Amino acid sequence: MGSCIKSSKGKVLVTGGSGFIASHIIDVFLDDGFEVVATARSDEKGRSIVNSAPISQQKNLSYVLVGDISEDGAFDSIFKTESAFDYVVHTASPYTLKVQDPIKDLLDPAIKGTTGILKSIKAYAPTVKRVVITSSSAAIINTLKHAKVYDETHWAPWTLEDIHIPKRAYETSKVLSEKAAWNFVKTEQPNFDLATINCTFTFGPVQRSLPSLDAMNTSNHRIRDMVQGKMKGGLLPTLPVFTFVDVRDVAQAHLKAVTVPEAGGNRFYVVGGHFSNKRIADVIRNSYPELAGQIPEDSHDDFPTDVYEFDNSKSKRILGLDYIGLEKSVKDTVQSILDRSWRL
Ligand code: NDP
Repeated sequence: MGSCIKSSKGKVLVTGGSGFIASHIIDVFLDDGFEVVATARSDEKGRSIVNSAPISQQKNLSYVLVGDISEDGAFDSIFKTESAFDYVVHTASPYTLKVQDPIKDLLDPAIKGTTGILKSIKAYAPTVKRVVITSSSAAIINTLKHAKVYDETHWAPWTLEDIHIPKRAYETSKVLSEKAAWNFVKTEQPNFDLATINCTFTFGPVQRSLPSLDAMNTSNHRIRDMVQGKMKGGLLPTLPVFTFVDVRDVAQAHLKAVTVPEAGGNRFYVVGGHFSNKRIADVIRNSYPELAGQIPEDSHDDFPTDVYEFDNSKSKRILGLDYIGLEKSVKDTVQSILDRSWRL
């Protein structure tokens, strides 16, 4: 663990610091002059978060240990012992599609982790002015009956029972945890306000602290699998999501959700564009001719003609986002994999 020099911008706690999205959030907050404390589940992960940051940034970055966020009071000791946080960005939540026990593995960390951190802040961190939570487009989209155009007014319809339907378990954990967060601020009236980033399927450069290709975050798997030739025999279906966003835009969204005063009290649907597996494959083949042999030649594009649209104008207007396109996002993701000289 390290001690930080007080930064003029303020001090922010980022939960789940070992994660893909969190790693980019940490980078943009450091670049903007914040002091960042990341949570990690082990010293090894905490050290890796700090040591993989550019040397010039390390003086403003430290980590604290937090175990399973489903546990009651998991965050209490941080706020009791670390001095005066100004902001909290809560990204820690399991994003996995394969679970043994959906309640223990998904629902509890999502809901109890979210309400738990809000309770701890209210009880022990009166200096926190705003909390930003990484929710998801999964809390917006209704895969049973798509809206024509989605925006922040839409809520996925899933209830507690849906947690037992494997293809809906993750979505359920996200919509119920986001609802729990908004309900907390409404009923508890804490000193801080809340904003949520409802980002869609996220691609982009893998985190510097990633130990192996196997440990890669879920949403980059299809790009990794194409690079490794796992879809050589045919592309897997793109379903269920046809919208993507680059992780660097997701990170900017979190930063702006903290720094823009009007962002408080809002959800932000953060979407960069549409995609299909065929479109990803085409970018990889065209940008990396040496990988062409890993990718099937004449794949069918399963992009639906009647695909749902998205309205991301609120994120552009209030957060000032200017989205990265699919080509750059996929290219940079592949490059980040190749740069690590992992055995493909
Ligand atoms: P990662 O799997 O890369 O990161 C998840 C982070 O949460 C890790 O730091 C992990 O810690 C931590 N975590 C998970 N479960 C627990 C737990 N029970 N107790 C403590 N920490 C835990 O995922 P992403 O970066 O992709 O996702 C981060 C957030 O963004 C999540 O809230 C996810 O729902 C949301 N999101 C992701 C999208 C995407 O496409 N990637 C899209 C929309 C939202 P550890 O490393 O120790 O396992």
